[in-house]
Amino acid sequence: MSRLNPRQQEAVHFVGGPLLVLAGAGSGKTSVITRKIAYLIQQCGIRAQYIVAVTFTNKAAREMKARVSTLLRGGEGKGLTVSTFHNLGLNIIRKEHRHLGYKPGFSIFDEGDIKALVSDIMQKEYAGDDGVAEVMQQIGSWKNDLILPEEALEKARNPREQTAAVVYLHYQRTLKAYNAVDFDDLILQPVKLFQNHPEVLEKWRHKVRYMLVDEYQDTNASQYLLVKLLVQDRAQFTVVGDDDQSIYAWRGARPENLMQLKDDFPSLKVVMLEQNYRSTSRILKCANVLIANNPHVFEKQLWSEMGHGDAIRVIRCRNEEAEAERIALEILTEHLKTDRPYSDFAILYRGNHQAKLMELKLQHHQIPYRLSGGTSFFSRQEVKDLMSYFRLLVNPDDDNAFLRVINVPRREIGSSTLEKLGNYAGERHISLYAACDEMGLAERLDGRFVERLQRFKRYMDKLRQECAQNDPIAALRSMVMDIDYENWVRQNSSSDKAADFRMGNVWFLIDALKNTLEKDEEGGMTIEEAIAKLVLRDMLERQQEEEEGAEGVQMMTLHASKGLEFPSVYIMGMEEEILPHRSSIEADTIEEERRLAYVGITRARQRLAFTYAAKRKQYGEIIECMPSRFLDELPPDDLEWEGQEEAPVEVKAARGNDALAGIKALLKR
Ligand code: ATP
Ligand code: MG
Repeated sequence: MSRLNPRQQEAVHFVGGPLLVLAGAGSGKTSVITRKIAYLIQQCGIRAQYIVAVTFTNKAAREMKARVSTLLRGGEGKGLTVSTFHNLGLNIIRKEHRHLGYKPGFSIFDEGDIKALVSDIMQKEYAGDDGVAEVMQQIGSWKNDLILPEEALEKARNPREQTAAVVYLHYQRTLKAYNAVDFDDLILQPVKLFQNHPEVLEKWRHKVRYMLVDEYQDTNASQYLLVKLLVQDRAQFTVVGDDDQSIYAWRGARPENLMQLKDDFPSLKVVMLEQNYRSTSRILKCANVLIANNPHVFEKQLWSEMGHGDAIRVIRCRNEEAEAERIALEILTEHLKTDRPYSDFAILYRGNHQAKLMELKLQHHQIPYRLSGGTSFFSRQEVKDLMSYFRLLVNPDDDNAFLRVINVPRREIGSSTLEKLGNYAGERHISLYAACDEMGLAERLDGRFVERLQRFKRYMDKLRQECAQNDPIAALRSMVMDIDYENWVRQNSSSDKAADFRMGNVWFLIDALKNTLEKDEEGGMTIEEAIAKLVLRDMLERQQEEEEGAEGVQMMTLHASKGLEFPSVYIMGMEEEILPHRSSIEADTIEEERRLAYVGITRARQRLAFTYAAKRKQYGEIIECMPSRFLDELPPDDLEWEGQEEAPVEVKAARGNDALAGIKALLKR
């Protein structure tokens, strides 16, 4: 285990009051947090259950947990909370849902659910959903600024904002009726709860005796308020951050938020760290020189003793295909030559759409990889649909599943019907499913709609019976037919081929269920148990996938790479309009894009390469690309430009379908 330097030690040992560690990339900020958790438990006698550490991504939280557990002895870490802001908020809502008026088992709406809902409301209120994305964005930014619908209505200054505020009002009411929250609610609701219920806040303050926040520069107004409420008078906290790595302005985070702390906590102690333990000095110089082009709130120095290191390569490729091919072949060659595990390599990009081609090339060369934020089998639309049907079959109280399937395929049950159903169920404290059958519902809803809901419920009841009495697999297969799911899939797929593929997944899922049933040797397993097993396996497999991923090349967006490090990093698509992104060029927010590039560069420990394409296909047209302005800003002496069309000669010789054999032959030479 590495020894902390004196400044880091100072940060770890300072416990009496509020502390900010402000320092550049790779200077050991996260290390300070993990070591401090151990210090608090082992030296200060604070029990783990009273310590809460917050990070930004699930991946970062998992890593932090793992790092902490190596520092603790058995049992010491029991009850420790290491989570994302959103998970912390979710826990608070779960425990306090009664005060907020939610029923247990409330649903969390994802991006797709939200879009459908907002669009539905706009159709109803304005007979059209033009600009749905802007409205969603506006609602999100109100929520991040803790502005509720009523206040938004008052504050709206122009027709665009007025429209959004009206939609926001309906949206929030509908969510409540659905017993659902969205992503932003996970922070907003706890904050409102604490503001309105001092006795609840007091309880949580008692639980959170010491708080630590990583990547502090990315907290927005509502997240900051949550922290402030929890730590208030005691002011026992440590936050660490780097203003140069603030990359979530679009979610309301600003580098200036760091200044706010000093105003709110005048006794704030600030510790700066200057030694970087991650990267070679050439990589670090690149990062420093680039970020010097941004104005700065704080001046920071960063140096490293990790050696001078190799030059940073900038590789020009003929087109996007050559770019992906080049990266794949380089990694393959390097892996074979040096025996470096594939997990030493990371490929970073600005947007998820850039990953597709890269994935194909890696697959083609049989290079294992792990895609963060990609779609696994169980996150596919059709698999989620079917799983929701299964879930509702075994657990009629699963409102989330109910909402997912009620209009898949369309049953002409609109959001206003569902809103009334939700209200009714909420008052009666019963599930949506159960509410369909209640006499009282008929007083609220037009008979036509009640009939549609009941028809659905009757069908599901019958199916449940079918499953219990006869061959459940046959029953599920015929369900897919009964609801004409294939037709629905065809209508919602881009091509016949895509639809065939999706239907393949549907049958595959039912076969998986069949296998689970058949594998049960005692023969006593009910379909309920089998489905529960499958749901559980769904969760297990997701976890497994995360772990297995350790073996492969890591692919992720620049945003997702925050806090991580890799021996060798490729940043692809270093072109104008990609990085910096076109929208940032138009909105003149280049500084944030520069910070994003800075985050990418500082992930690399020993090797760093940029690639860009001279031409690229965009919206079906071939366009000429300009290398990113950020490349011009880097120190020329530390760069090595490679203008070859696609790959160096020896790699070229090894190309083609038999690349592996070619490279092996090459290595023998
Ligand atoms: P980022 O800004 O990217 O989040 P960070 O400031 O959180 O970076 P860490 O991830 O904590 O930095 O540390 C970077 C690397 O330096 C890690 O590999 C860590 O183990 C190592 N490290 C941290 N402190 C020391 C130290 N005192 N001695 C040796 N290595 C260290
Ligand atoms: Mg960190």
